[in-house]
Amino acid sequence: MYAFAYHRPATARQAAGLLAKKEDAKLLAGGHTLLPTMKQRLASPAHLVDLGACADLRGIERKGRNLVIGAMSTHAEVAASSIVQEAIPGLAWLASHIGDPHVRHRGTIGGSVANNDPAADYPAACLALGATIVTNRRKIEADAFFTGLYETALEEGEIVTKIAFPVASKAAYAKFRNPASRYALVGVFVAKRGSDVRVAVTGAGEGGVFRWPEGEAALKVRFAPKSLDGVKASAKGVNADMHADAEYRAHLIGVMAKEAVARAVGK
Ligand SMILES: Cc1cc2nc3c(=O)[nH]c(=O)nc-3n(C[C@H](O)[C@H](O)[C@H](O)COP(=O)(O)OP(=O)(O)OC[C@H]3O[C@@H](n4cnc5c(N)ncnc54)[C@H](O)[C@@H]3O)c2cc1C
Repeated sequence: MYAFAYHRPATARQAAGLLAKKEDAKLLAGGHTLLPTMKQRLASPAHLVDLGACADLRGIERKGRNLVIGAMSTHAEVAASSIVQEAIPGLAWLASHIGDPHVRHRGTIGGSVANNDPAADYPAACLALGATIVTNRRKIEADAFFTGLYETALEEGEIVTKIAFPVASKAAYAKFRNPASRYALVGVFVAKRGSDVRVAVTGAGEGGVFRWPEGEAALKVRFAPKSLDGVKASAKGVNADMHADAEYRAHLIGVMAKEAVARAVGK
């Protein structure tokens, strides 16, 4: 590590003020991505603005048809929340399968969506559930938020404050984990609300999280695992690395989608 100034504001507004005032300042949430990046000298901000004391970025509540989760909620808090378990059990399951206990007790939902790792789990849930990412400046639909590998629609100095998930009638997640990191080789979140069905895939896309239109079309006819029989995901634009080639990952999209639908319908 090297020298940097550390700030611990008490509100998101104060944090935004520090970001505006201090040159080369970066937000710190759980630190599970940022600190390793700094240790490897891939990032070297002059100021760290720790969101840990911002009580206004915490809290999980049901607001009408939405489940609203504060950006600084840890994965462990989301997993253990009875409000989440009741509103969108698939989201609680997702949170309970992120990394290991250490990661789940430090890592936050806001840090995860802001970082937009191509293998992170929450981006798939946001896209499939049609979430709204709320910042200190505006509301951004998930469809417009995730713009590429580690890229989002967030502007300089913008802070994710909460995420609103519309409650679906059926929703679930399945992921094929890398046994070492527990990140998704492929993860698929499925959600059904009325006649609308959305299927979002993480871990597989060269450009990060994406929706799978062929899967959505098949599931709109009938929301059942069998509907995906014979529906193949294309390997075009799918990641290939030392862990899995593109064809294998494409195959896993179908397998994970089926598993997620089976969970969603309780089979
Ligand atoms: C060993 C290991 C295994 C992991 N396994 C998984 C896994 O299986 N699935 C998974 O999804 N993730 C996994 N993760 C990532 C983990 O979920 C972290 O939560 C995630 O990396 C980032 O969240 P954080 O709170 O730690 O953010 P930080 O590291 O503090 O910040 C990440 C980035 O987001 C920015 N940021 C943070 N909060 C905000 C905000 N509110 N508004 C705007 N910008 C913000 C920071 O400036 C920084 O650029 C793993 C991490 C590790 C180390």
